[in-house]
Amino acid sequence: MKESIVVMGGGVVGLSCAFELQRRGHQVTVLEINRCGGQASGAAAGMLAPYSENVEGPDAFFQLCLESLRLYPEWQQNVKQASGQTFEYTNSGSLYIAYHEADLLALEGRLLWQGQYGSSGKIIEGDALFRLEPNLSRNVRAALHTPEESHVYAPHYVRALEQACRLMGVTIHENLDKLTIVEWQREILIQSTDQRMFSGDQLVVCSGAWAQELSDTFGIRIPVYPIRGQICAYEVDEKPVHHMVFGNQGYLVAKENSTLVCGASEDVAGFDTSVTDKGIERLRKWNKQAFPFLEDRTPFHRWAGLRPSTQDGLPLIGALSGSSRVVFAVGHYRNGILLSPATAMLAADCIEGKNTAAYNQAFSPERFGR
Ligand SMILES: Cc1cc2nc3c(=O)[nH]c(=O)nc-3n(C[C@H](O)[C@H](O)[C@H](O)COP(=O)(O)OP(=O)(O)OC[C@H]3O[C@@H](n4cnc5c(N)ncnc54)[C@H](O)[C@@H]3O)c2cc1C
Repeated sequence: MKESIVVMGGGVVGLSCAFELQRRGHQVTVLEINRCGGQASGAAAGMLAPYSENVEGPDAFFQLCLESLRLYPEWQQNVKQASGQTFEYTNSGSLYIAYHEADLLALEGRLLWQGQYGSSGKIIEGDALFRLEPNLSRNVRAALHTPEESHVYAPHYVRALEQACRLMGVTIHENLDKLTIVEWQREILIQSTDQRMFSGDQLVVCSGAWAQELSDTFGIRIPVYPIRGQICAYEVDEKPVHHMVFGNQGYLVAKENSTLVCGASEDVAGFDTSVTDKGIERLRKWNKQAFPFLEDRTPFHRWAGLRPSTQDGLPLIGALSGSSRVVFAVGHYRNGILLSPATAMLAADCIEGKNTAAYNQAFSPERFGR
């Protein structure tokens, strides 16, 4: 049966869930207290990098990240088609650089298990490395080259998702200020501060770093916390960096619009999204070390966003037990852009009561207790 579904939150996760649910024939309403894409999603560097972001091993999180990367080619086409808008999607591959032997050993260890999960990665050293990335510092000893990783221009991707939703018939309400969930067990009733009431059969909670506010409403612990990411961009003439370049203290990614994006700090600053000189200076130090041509350059743009991190580092994706009326999709921390297609599929399957057993335990929204 096709349902009417309310999505709380208009970031990349909420808009992706809305897009997928509307595509499946449901009637979706998105409620956003601010502006769609105005928080973490609009601030992201847009890297789709499951291998570089997961260094420990092939756990459920890595599996979901990988699944999402593989969904991207078709997913981004669908978003472009449905929105009539375009956005950058570049299969640049990545280089994870090492300055010392010890760092290289860690990369070799990672390659051992990632090779079994679709990576055609290789360790590249010496001249071969500098042919791939000519402007890289000659102090770099080696790099793990992973050709499968790509990136999108996040602000344009999110804008296209929003437009796709609107054109497909999703109703989007923005600037709602504050929302109160009045009822969620028998039906969904949500009230805004201007006394408007929104109703539906089911609810998908996609409120990012703000999800913890709903603990009392649902009677469960929702340990989601904001981690500020400060990030900056240089203006560049032609693409001086060809891959996404990762190191232990940062990353650089060149975009089609002649910018070189460099991120990102990880600070605990509550819900403060201001940018500090200290935060950006630390990034610049790392950039110059990796790419000496940046020595005399100053970033022309600096910004920050709040990543929704969780107590155990895993997102909360799934239905509340005993009811598929409320589904959570929050806590994507550093990988919400990457995870948007797979999260949308998983959340939509939960709404439709389909089997999502592979991820139920790892991502259960109730795993932190009552
Ligand atoms: C600097 C930086 C760089 C990043 N780089 C990458 C990257 O390269 N690749 C990647 O995959 N990820 C990256 N991320 C992470 C990614 O941006 C996040 O994981 C993702 O945006 C989370 O999406 P979201 O929709 O859950 O959250 P958000 O985009 O924060 O959206 C949540 C929305 O919910 C709204 N909201 C809050 N409370 C309520 C409520 N009660 N009712 C209704 N609406 C509400 C908010 O206003 C907000 O618009 C980066 C993040 C930062 C900060």
